[in-house]
Amino acid sequence: MPVINRIADFYDDMKEWRQDLHSDPELKFECHRTASFIIKRLKEFGVKEIHQGIAKTGIVAIIEGKKKGKTIGLRADMDALPLQEIHDHPYKSRNPGIMHACGHDGHMTMLLGAARYLAETRNFSGRVALIFQPSEEDGGGGEVMCKEGIMDTFSINQVYGIHNASDLPLGFFKTNAGPNMAAADDFTILINGQGGHGANPEETKDPIVVAIQIAQAIQTISSRNLSAHDPVVISITQIHSGTTHNIIPDNAFINGTVRTLSEKTKNLVKERVLEICDGISKAFKCEVNLNYHDGYPVTDNHKKETEFAVEVASDISGSKQVDGNGMPIMGSEDFSYMLLEKPGAYLHVGQGYGPPLHSPEYDFNDDLAPIGASFFAKLVEKAQPLD
Ligand SMILES: [Zn+2]
Ligand SMILES: [Zn+2]
Repeated sequence: MPVINRIADFYDDMKEWRQDLHSDPELKFECHRTASFIIKRLKEFGVKEIHQGIAKTGIVAIIEGKKKGKTIGLRADMDALPLQEIHDHPYKSRNPGIMHACGHDGHMTMLLGAARYLAETRNFSGRVALIFQPSEEDGGGGEVMCKEGIMDTFSINQVYGIHNASDLPLGFFKTNAGPNMAAADDFTILINGQGGHGANPEETKDPIVVAIQIAQAIQTISSRNLSAHDPVVISITQIHSGTTHNIIPDNAFINGTVRTLSEKTKNLVKERVLEICDGISKAFKCEVNLNYHDGYPVTDNHKKETEFAVEVASDISGSKQVDGNGMPIMGSEDFSYMLLEKPGAYLHVGQGYGPPLHSPEYDFNDDLAPIGASFFAKLVEKAQPLD
């Protein structure tokens, strides 16, 4: 069964919602106008129970089925990115330096499309909790919504989310049971040496030499401390120091990100970065201050729920258009916090090949909206059937 016919009828409306959301992107927890837009649409669909102000601008809306039963959670993220849009289409961002470059405008639209259909048909038992979550890109809105108790408050017993992908064919679903997206930690290292004349290094404690040693030693964690079968990414993304050619500076600064797929590896990398900083600091008699920050955890898909979601995706796109054993992605997702609380799965769905996510040239493909909305709607009808 392809896209649900009734949802295909919403195509023009969904395109309009998506382009409207695209034109007025908001950052982090400040998704005020976005939330108003969603609430307005939900009310038009006849959704009565709408809870707003969760994680500041997040929303949980409940749609009741025709019979009593469990509650399934469906999540869409709401926030945009601090990026200047390049395209000049009629719905381009009107907020300078902010754009929907990750397709969250499309994610909200897909969930709204499913909401309209589910509110109209109600061919399911129990309830659906529509979770609109701010601050995915930065700030962990998913964690905040969980901390504010949405899973218990709304008795959500399983939860699902999808993300568009611009490196997969339109409508192609990809996921896997177990770690699906990486944990993302970051670190900063401040090296305090002692500067002086570039011609007399023997009178200094050169922080640049120390920064280089640390940066190189950190790269050996993946090659010397971890198995080739244990995926890890450690990227040093900033090194700053110095002002000119003949002054050895006092300080150097390093910044980087660590991506891992298990708690064990995550902890090992953290420990090794600490040991490397410690050892090199002693060897070079410089003070090295490490600030290691634990970011989003691993997005760990539950087996049974992943298999179920793969089945639903196959109903929509056909089994040849679904990969249920895909390779994990080293990007991260704060949907991970929801999966720590309740069983569920996260899937990636292709929108056709185009500019990558987070690029100023990216744009959500409106043709994906009915596919994603059908997937969400079918998940509900299949997980909580009437008989
Ligand atoms: Zn993103
Ligand atoms: Zn995203």
